[in-house]
Amino acid sequence: MPLYNRVALIGLGLIAGSMSLAMRKHGLAGEVVGTARSTESRQIARDINLCDVIVDTAAEAVKDADLVVLCVPVGAMAAVAAEIAPALKAGATVSDVGSVKRDVIEAVGPHIPEGVHFVPAHPLAGTEHSGPKSGFAKLFENRWCLIVPGDADRAAVDRLTQLWQGMGSNTDEMDADHHDLVLAVTSHTPHLIAYTMCGVADDLGRVTDSEVIQYSAAGFRDFTRIAASDPVMWRDVFLSNKDATLEILGRFTEELFALQRAIRQGDGPYLQEYFTRTRAIRRGIIEAGQDTEAQNFGRDNTEDAT
Ligand code: NAP
Repeated sequence: MPLYNRVALIGLGLIAGSMSLAMRKHGLAGEVVGTARSTESRQIARDINLCDVIVDTAAEAVKDADLVVLCVPVGAMAAVAAEIAPALKAGATVSDVGSVKRDVIEAVGPHIPEGVHFVPAHPLAGTEHSGPKSGFAKLFENRWCLIVPGDADRAAVDRLTQLWQGMGSNTDEMDADHHDLVLAVTSHTPHLIAYTMCGVADDLGRVTDSEVIQYSAAGFRDFTRIAASDPVMWRDVFLSNKDATLEILGRFTEELFALQRAIRQGDGPYLQEYFTRTRAIRRGIIEAGQDTEAQNFGRDNTEDAT
């Protein structure tokens, strides 16, 4: 039995596409209806049969839907919520997959009509690719999905939790502010550092010509993968999770200064102790099944040097 008769996905990028494919693979929805902002994305989605039905507007998509999932950039959530509000079915659940929770709750919450349940969520799964062709059914398998129920109806929260578990995710519940702080540490600030490092290398690249690209296997390449993520999505993440990101960036800067001082003073024991501690973090991630143990992420890398 499907968990929802009709699921509407607003936005048809990496996350919505992966949800549609996963829900259909596991028989979790009777019907998946999707829509995207541009004619081009909707046409691609039709061509690749991404959903059961593709419609032209968000208001049309949510009609008679039991679950509506907002899969647009965080900064676009309020406008989409305002557009769909009058068309929502009584008793339906509205959720989202935004990477920031407090801001999205404040933007979407006021538009949710009486009798409709709002259960925010965030799948901790992604790639640097975007658009309707980037989704794949296994994206959420063995990844976490954080659900931020607030005071939402318990039955609605439980059903959404079952949906994420049905798509292969582990689930946990969290308060919105705590979510935003945790994600500032584990995702948002690392992305900012990757963007910065690529910017620095780009400036340097102008001096050293192609060396930065030619020798990028030595660690820098992994920064470039992260820094290739969708610019609009990440612009919105930093504008929306401002306080937590600034808090973590402040701590990062202090640590960086401490390492800078240790290097200047030739303090080997400090550096070694620091790097021993960080190595243990990597081991913990592998033991938790959240990354591969294969050398260099399993790449065929006979040419790589560090
Ligand atoms: P994506 O592949 O770039 O797709 C975004 C979708 O939103 C597209 O269908 C796009 O329509 C639509 N859209 C963009 N701007 C819009 C606007 N102003 N109004 C209405 N629709 C708009 O994005 P994604 O990676 O799936 O991300 C979607 C959400 O998931 C974001 O909130 C993001 O924070 C969150 N998330 C992302 C990741 C990740 O790693 N990518 C992981 C977890 C959560 P068009 O194609 O027609 O432009």
